[in-house]
Order: sequence, then C-alpha cells, then structure tokens
Amino acid sequence: MSLYRDEGVVLRTQKLGEADRIVTILAKRTGKIRAVAKGVRRTTSRFGARLEPFTHVDLQLHTGRTLDVVTQAETIRPYGEALTADYPRYTAGSAMLETADRLTHGEKEPALRQFLLLVGGLRTLADRGHEARLVLDAYFLRSLAVAGYAPALDACAKCRAPAIRAFAIVAGGVVCGACRPAGSAVPAGETIGLMTALLRGDWATADASESRHRSECSGLVAAYLQWHLEHGIRSLRHVERELRERTTTDPASVGRDTAADPA
Ligand SMILES: [Zn+2]
Repeated sequence: MSLYRDEGVVLRTQKLGEADRIVTILAKRTGKIRAVAKGVRRTTSRFGARLEPFTHVDLQLHTGRTLDVVTQAETIRPYGEALTADYPRYTAGSAMLETADRLTHGEKEPALRQFLLLVGGLRTLADRGHEARLVLDAYFLRSLAVAGYAPALDACAKCRAPAIRAFAIVAGGVVCGACRPAGSAVPAGETIGLMTALLRGDWATADASESRHRSECSGLVAAYLQWHLEHGIRSLRHVERELRERTTTDPASVGRDTAADPA
C-alpha cells in the first residue's frame, strides 16, 4: 500500500454506495485527485465534515487501483463556514470551485498555480475585504491567464495596434477599429481599466471602480470565460441572476449604453 500526503481544496463530492463518498480535490502538489472517503456519510465518521466542498484540508491517502482512498483528513481552513451564511459569497465561491475543476483537465497533473489562485480567491472572499463579484472576476481572469487564455487588454489582440475600439471574445480581448468583428462589445475605457486592475491584483483601483463598470466587466468576463470553457459554468447562472436583480434596482449600474454596438 503506497501512502502519500498532500493538502488541497475539496471541489465537489458525490455519493458512493451506502455510506461513502467520492471527493474531488485540487491538491497542491498532486493536482486534481478523485478519491474515496469511506464511511463519511455516517454520523460517527471521524472526518466527514472535513471533506465538504470549500474546505482546505491536509490529507493522507493511499493509492488505489482505480481511485485513491482518503485515510486521514485535517482541516486547514473551512472556507465553507464563512461562505454559506452569505449568498453572494457562496455563489461566487461555488463558481470558483467549478471553474477550478474545469480548468484542470487531467487527474494527478500538477496545477500548483491554479491551486494557489483558488486558495487565494477563497481566502479573499471569506475575508470580506472586497465585493464578492470583484473577487470572482479577479479569480476568473487570473485562472484563465494561468490556463493560457489571458485576454489582451492593452493593445489589439490581432494586430497589436495600441488604439482600442472594442472587446471581441473570439479575437481574444480588445481589438482596434480595423480588426473589430461586427457585433463586438464597445465597453467603457474604465471597464477595460478595471479588468486590467483585477488581472494584476490592483485592489486599490478595483475597489474605487464605479458600479456600472463593475457590471460591464462582469458581463464581459463571464462571456469570455464561458466561451473558453465551451459549456456554461452552472454556478454562474446564480451569480448572473443576482447581478440582474441588483441592477434592476440600480439603473445606473446597468451600463446598457456600452454593452453591444450593432454597427
Ligand atoms: Zn487590430
């Protein structure tokens, strides 16, 4: 029996048989692991609660023929406790877990930078220092960048011209007037500035941004992420619904004037 230790964040769980679960973990050294946690659905389980989504755990596992088996789990930080009481933070956190799962393809392929981004994102979300949607957009932009899909934000994605006219998802970011595909969005300059700040981790600029630029940024980032992941991120639908509910009560934050340019 081959034992190994690692630390990781529980991304999701699924039932297995009467009392067991399969847990999917993004681990620091190993990458994504799917492992069996035996007996965790029994109330007497020693580590059931430590293997819930959002929990950062220290683990010992033994290598199995198909799935590894969790033999020990100690909580490092239970981010779920801080997030479940706050719906916007909970949906943002769920979208992070799902994105981390989708952006790490193979099992046991080391993904240290994705792991660090996820832990940093959950910590920032739980610490409540910044608006949940800003934290989520920063996470999306950076995890896409680590996966090789950083959007061009300072020069045309196609010809590198410095004069920016629009944001085109298919082109890979901002584009100049000559390269601009029909129907591409024409966001405010401040919105592109906000995306740049979030990508760099410049919170002073991001926190000072206006609500309408945050809404426009979220729309572009969500569309950009979805395009790159082929299918929609399920948790994003809750975030979007929430954003719509918020913007309908605050017309100044809708940003419809800059959303789509039919010309
Ligand atoms: Zn161009």
